[in-house]
Parts: sequence; structure tokens; C-alpha cells
Amino acid sequence: MQVEHSLEEHYAHLLGIKAPWLVTRVEANPELSRIDVWVEHAPDVALVCPICGTTAPGYDQSPERIWRHLDVCRIPLFVHCRLPRCQCPEHGVRRLRAPWEGGCPHFTVGFSQFAIEVLLETTSLSSACRLLGINWGQGLRLREWAVRLALKRREENPSKHVLLGIDEKAFGKGLDFGTIVYSHTTCSVLEVVPGRSAEAAAQALSRAIPEPLRDEVQGISMDFSTAYAKAANEIFPHAHQVVDRFHATALLGKAVDETRRQTMMRSDCPPTLKNSRLLWLKNLQNLNEEEIARFDQLIELDLPVCEAWHVKYAFRFFYEQPSRTEAMKYFWVWFDWATRARLKPLIRVAKTFWYNIVRLANYHRFGGLTNARAEGFNSKIQSVKSIARGFRNFANYRFAILFHCGRLPLPTHSL
Ligand SMILES: [Zn+2]
Repeated sequence: MQVEHSLEEHYAHLLGIKAPWLVTRVEANPELSRIDVWVEHAPDVALVCPICGTTAPGYDQSPERIWRHLDVCRIPLFVHCRLPRCQCPEHGVRRLRAPWEGGCPHFTVGFSQFAIEVLLETTSLSSACRLLGINWGQGLRLREWAVRLALKRREENPSKHVLLGIDEKAFGKGLDFGTIVYSHTTCSVLEVVPGRSAEAAAQALSRAIPEPLRDEVQGISMDFSTAYAKAANEIFPHAHQVVDRFHATALLGKAVDETRRQTMMRSDCPPTLKNSRLLWLKNLQNLNEEEIARFDQLIELDLPVCEAWHVKYAFRFFYEQPSRTEAMKYFWVWFDWATRARLKPLIRVAKTFWYNIVRLANYHRFGGLTNARAEGFNSKIQSVKSIARGFRNFANYRFAILFHCGRLPLPTHSL
């Protein structure tokens, strides 16, 4: 038996529209660049208050709204509807909710979920928009809607984070700094705020972890910034602070470089030292054969920069000690050597380390906690940043990072 469907019935079926909603009109323009579908609430079916679910008399119809829906054969489809309003004795005049609502405003829930899936698959907003047939501003709005919704879901159902990391990140053209809070537990970005002051850091940390879960945090890795230490102390007074290994090594690298520059200024500086900057800074294992041969010759020279390099190299064994206690013991041997070298840049760094020794040695407390663990999403942040080529404002930067690196319960089809 063959069942004949009208065009309206066909579209109702396609869109999953059921009673009391009816498709009353379908229009496709001659160029087939869009399909418009009009939906109405059946006039003979009583209205129901969207708050309490009781039958309520009709009041009027709200102005026509249009929602973008998923394409049909690559042709964009738009749903039109004047949603009825009812007058509930208890809740007053209320607008009915259409079954395709619940997505980003102006988009059906089906389109919104699909758009989020496409946006997640590409770090470039403009290519996602091109695939979806929407403009850049609409893409931004969809992403922001998804992040806001997911943050609300996260707030309602927060997860425990034992180890955190806090770091500064340049954004825009590299002139402005933001503070970013990671979870080492879930390898995700929890919050991003503008600025890198103690106030900014406190705001980022408190937004990242709701108050009832703050006691669960045991360790926070960071750089030498006193602003971050102060904020961490204020928000997580019981957590151990860890000065990140990467930042400590970078500081020693700077001291070696400064010593090299001072050596270069001496009248007896050997010409072989010219253009050797990177040799002193690179990791030994990253040098090629030619570089190794050159470095072997340089390190044999009796120059302050050679001594500075040895002191820097020796600090790596601080991290290779079997325990925190052993690391502390090793530190004093190293400190003694570093300060006896009589090289000002090194003495400065050694003193900074001495001042932060407890926080440096806490590296061992958590089995080698370092922000380098966050390397995976750091490169992801970098790719989000480079493709977006500078963000118009900080809010967009934050939404982009939380969207791609936040591991949030985003409103996709499966959630
Ligand atoms: Zn009601």
C-alpha cells in the first residue's frame, strides 16, 4: 500500500515535528539557495503553561522568529514560527517553547549541536564557518553559547583536581598578558583571565575551583612570580607550591647568556665565541654533529661562560635526585659552587633559588610536577592562537581556549 505525503508532511517528518505542532507551508526559492518552513501550533489543541504544565487559555502570538536548521541536500533550511503565548493563572503570560529550541539563539538545537562538532574538529573558526555556511560573528556566538552552557554544567557537576598549574600567556600581538590555570589531573585548561597580577591570579584560581573542592588541591606549579605565590596562598592555603622546572632552567639559561655577553666584551675574548649563543642554550641532545664538535672546542676554553654553563648543567641533577631530602642536600653543594664562581648573573639566580628552595624541592613531592606536562595543550593553545591571528578582545580568546582546551561538557549531539 502506498501512502501519499504532502510536502508539508514530508518536512514535518524530516524535522521531527509532531503534534501539537504542524508544518503549514514550505517554500524553496527558484535558485534553491534556501528552503523556508513555517510551523504553527495546532489551533484546536489547548495550550500548556511551560512552567507548570497545566492547560491555560491562549493570550496572543509572539512575533515571527526564524531559526537556522541543518541543511537539506546542502541547501540551508530555515524554520519560521509565531510562538503562541498562554495566560497561566499562576505564572501569568508565558511563551510556549518550541521543540527545536534549546540551542544557540537563532539556531535550532540540531544545528547548534552539529555546529559545535564542526567547530571542535577545526581550530580555525573561519573554515568551520565556511563549512557551516554561517558568518564569522555567528560562529563566535555559537562557540560562546557552547562554552557558557558547558561552564554552567561544570559548575553544577564539578570534578576534583588534585594538581594545578598557573602560568602567564601572551595574547593578541604579544603585548598583553593573561593568566591561565591548568589542571594537571585532567590535562585541561580551567580558566583564563586578563592580566598577571596577584588579583588576576586569585580571580583565575577561585573561578577554576569552586570553594567546596579547594581542599582537594594538593599542589600548584608556577613560575617565580610573587604575585602567583601570593594568590595561591590566599585561595589554596594548604596546597604545596612548586616552582616549575622549566622556569628554573630558563632562568639559568639567561644567566649563562648574560655571562657569554660579558665575556664577549672582554679584549681577550677568543674569536671562536662569536655566533655561539644557541650552542650554550640548547640541550646537549638537541645539538647536531657539527654543533657538538664546535661546542667541544668552546667548552675546553678557560672562560667564565664555560663555568656558568657547567653550573647550569649541574642543576639538572637536582631534579634527578631520588627524593626531596636528597635534592635539598644536593642543592647546598650546587649553591656553594654556583656562588663561588664569582659570576654576578649566576649569583643572582642562585640566590633566587635559595629563596625559593622549598618550592623548588616540592618538585619531588609530586613525582616530578612540572608545567611541561601541560605541553600537549600548550601547543594546542598555540595553534588556536596562531590560526585566529590575534583576538579582537580577551573574551573571545578565553572562549576559544576553553572551547578547545577546556575538556568541557560541550553541547554536542552525544551530550
Ligand atoms: Zn503555569
